Amino acid sequence: MSALIQWLENLFRQQRDAMACLVVVLLPLPLFALFLVMPVIAQSSEQWRHIYQQERVSFSQIVLVMVISSQLLIARRAWQLRNVDRDLPVLSLFSVFTVFSAVIVLSLGYGYKDSPLMLLCVGMLILVRALFKPVIYKAVFIAMGILFVISEVAFWTRAMPYAPLLQQPIFLGDQISDWWAFWLRIIYSGIALPMVMLFFLIAHIMSQEQKELEALVRTDALTGLFNRRAFLEKFELEMLRHIRKHQPLSLLMLDVDHFKKINDGYGHPAGDAVLEALGQILDDSCRRRNDMAARFGGEEFVVLLPDTELTQATRIAEHIAWQLRTREFGKGDKRFTATVSIGVVQLDRGSVDDALRCADDNLYVAKSRGRDQVVASMVTLPQSEKETA
Ligand code: GH3
Ligand code: MG
Ligand code: MG
Repeated sequence: MSALIQWLENLFRQQRDAMACLVVVLLPLPLFALFLVMPVIAQSSEQWRHIYQQERVSFSQIVLVMVISSQLLIARRAWQLRNVDRDLPVLSLFSVFTVFSAVIVLSLGYGYKDSPLMLLCVGMLILVRALFKPVIYKAVFIAMGILFVISEVAFWTRAMPYAPLLQQPIFLGDQISDWWAFWLRIIYSGIALPMVMLFFLIAHIMSQEQKELEALVRTDALTGLFNRRAFLEKFELEMLRHIRKHQPLSLLMLDVDHFKKINDGYGHPAGDAVLEALGQILDDSCRRRNDMAARFGGEEFVVLLPDTELTQATRIAEHIAWQLRTREFGKGDKRFTATVSIGVVQLDRGSVDDALRCADDNLYVAKSRGRDQVVASMVTLPQSEKETA
């Protein structure tokens, strides 16, 4: 089941014209076939022969036969072109024209106002909107809008009879014939079931896309780590937990040493490779569920370690620095290594800002002591906060 949903989801997302054509011609095919068979069954029964206007119904039968044959040909062609990635405007137009010819003939012929055919029109419009490119669905929407107005005027001025294929409309007062009581159930199911499935699929795709967008907004494109915004959100939450549960919480702030020189000496892509490698190292260092590494700015990173004391956090920081120091970048005579300075703090109440300031202070000390080292301390609250704490 989930494989089927995945397949349908890809189908809708890829917006491939061939697959759109295939769906739009195959989905209503059983229903059109049903409308083709219904008058034949009615004709064969003495009791129900009077339901249809026999002379007119042969016209709709010819249209339906032509439409169904075209649909089968289109489906075959679309299947052959299913892996083609380019636009197929002619096939797309031909598909929607064919399908909507049948939809229009049936809607007008059976009277769309009091029959399930209005549901069919709406369902097909939603399907076309979901599957096709704007140029196609806009053309269909405009054409259907114009047709709707013309048909309303025609009914009103009595230029066209209502439900001309039938002796009398499906619903007449509160009476409905046994014939329609039976067939309407099948027609409604034939339209409503695919529509409900379509709505579910569209809702599923929308929620998937929303999740992907949310992930994108929280992710750094180069390293794949969380970005500053996501980190600060998480930090606020962990801070509250730390205060509530009195659990230790440590923070690492890292900055690549002389990164500008790496960029200048070996090129921007080489600098990017260092950032990606450090991102991977940090990601690997986040072993527990709530650990979080993020890219805080250009070549600045942060790691949040809940339930971790200063000594353990310092050990993790030393290991990170060692991993980067011992890695080689570039090729041949362009080979180089990179180092990182790290400020570590264990939080003791205070705020997110205090923690970041303090980790930054330690990072600064690490830089001033010659870089490629770790400086760690407990968070020291500013004087005014100390007095009130
Ligand atoms: P320090 O050891 O004091 O940290 O010196 P530094 O050269 O690392 O620090 P500085 O802040 O002077 O330089 C940071 C450089 O990082 C400048 C900026 O062009 C570069 N940078 C920022 N983001 C990126 C990025 O995404 N890719 C690359 N390749 N470089 C970046
Ligand atoms: Mg920096
Ligand atoms: Mg730097």
